Amino acid sequence: METGGNSLPSGPDGLKRRVIYFYDPEVGNYYYGQGHPMKPHRIRMTHALLAHYGLLQQMQVMKPLPARDKDLSRFHADDYVAFLRGITPDTQQDQLRALKRFNVGEDCPVFDGLYSFCQTYAGGSVGGAVKLNHGSDIAVNWAGGLHHAKKCEASGFCYVNDIVLAILELLKHYERVLYVDIDIHHGDGVEEAFYTTDRVMTVSFHKFGDYFPGTGDIRDIGYGKGKYYSLNVPLDDGIDDESYQSLFKPIIGKVMEVFRPGAVVLQCGADSLSGDRLGCFNLSIKGHAECVRFMRSFNVPLLLLGGGGYTIRNVARCWCYETGVALGVEIDDKMPHHEYYEYFGPDYTLHVAPSNMENKNSRQLLDEIRSKLLDNLSKLRHAPSVQFQERPPDAELPEADEDQDDADERWDPDSDMDIDNPKHQDEAFRKPVSISIQNTRIKREIIESELKDQEDHKGAIEHVKGIDMVTEDNSCLKVSDMSIEEPATVKVEPESSTKLPDQPLPGQLKS
Ligand SMILES: [Zn+2]
Repeated sequence: METGGNSLPSGPDGLKRRVIYFYDPEVGNYYYGQGHPMKPHRIRMTHALLAHYGLLQQMQVMKPLPARDKDLSRFHADDYVAFLRGITPDTQQDQLRALKRFNVGEDCPVFDGLYSFCQTYAGGSVGGAVKLNHGSDIAVNWAGGLHHAKKCEASGFCYVNDIVLAILELLKHYERVLYVDIDIHHGDGVEEAFYTTDRVMTVSFHKFGDYFPGTGDIRDIGYGKGKYYSLNVPLDDGIDDESYQSLFKPIIGKVMEVFRPGAVVLQCGADSLSGDRLGCFNLSIKGHAECVRFMRSFNVPLLLLGGGGYTIRNVARCWCYETGVALGVEIDDKMPHHEYYEYFGPDYTLHVAPSNMENKNSRQLLDEIRSKLLDNLSKLRHAPSVQFQERPPDAELPEADEDQDDADERWDPDSDMDIDNPKHQDEAFRKPVSISIQNTRIKREIIESELKDQEDHKGAIEHVKGIDMVTEDNSCLKVSDMSIEEPATVKVEPESSTKLPDQPLPGQLKS
């Protein structure tokens, strides 16, 4: 269903989009270890399906440029990044304290090439954001979407938070960015990072109640300036396509209307599919992909990312089908022969039937959740505006890699994209912050006189306020145990006359 569209960047039919797809042929070789449910091989399986369905020819395919230390440090603490860079399976027994401090070792193991893996998946998401900043309609990075990583802590199989990094990049060009998360787990790392800003709205649909990571209560709505800019949709086991869309469409439709984002990031975690090894939802691939279809219908620059997904044959099915949705192509249910064909027996079809498991989400419960969240959204009468300021330069973009063995379409050097001189980036990254990042200890605000200057120029030019995280002490030592419930860790914005009244806490929706 194509609804909600407004201006169409790629033609009035709303069907075709300029899609760019990021893939590194090495990504499938990273291995979390025996028995670990997270398998980067699923990204390679997805790519093989895309190739054999003929979808690669319909998009620009790019190998991501690895994110550098300083790119990762835009969100992560310097000492955490240095730790990730230095740790190896052979040296880890000498660094037990650091492993514990950074929560690395169990769910998030040390494995060969760990840092390159982080650089690769983060590079794809940031590269996608840069492309959206310069005219692509949709960018895809199935290796990204690792939403649990914190500023100085690994969590839930995630080491660096490529989503936060991509959103920071998008904020250089767009006043407001929407983050939507359909992984079965709460998108805690992204929510936490932007909990106190009104420039990023986060919306997470997830299983809630005795389930990792434990956050994502419907009553968690943001803090300070960010109040009402975090939305949480707590769900129970067995949710099916119809129940899911009975929340997703009205809530996201309202979010698009009131928040009016300049760009959208959709985390497409596939562990919300029926039959996932770690999940307990009952979505079909079409039901999951309906979220992509709906998001795409608004014709707002869209970054599609991966995430969880532990029954890997279904992950590959899902992300292949969703790439087709991004392209506006409906692909055949009958699967083409390819190198991983044997994974898909006995039917060798793209789609698989959901199960007959009980849907524990009653109609009444769904109605209560929907009205509560729509009520919160009604508090946002106007999309917030931001001050104008010089726009920081882009993160570095990948160039054509002649060595890549895939016969993919390569980065077009004649494109109108400007590739910034990396020498200039340090300066750009040290400009004053204009949003406060939760769990970042030091947030320097633009000083008063600068604000006055900007008032004079407001609206004069098409530049959005520069975004950066300035962390004079960018280490983890004093913040590693911060929780989002601690107001002391949150930069409290001065109350303004237009501030919305406090929302009374709702009663528990769940027994
Ligand atoms: Zn997940």
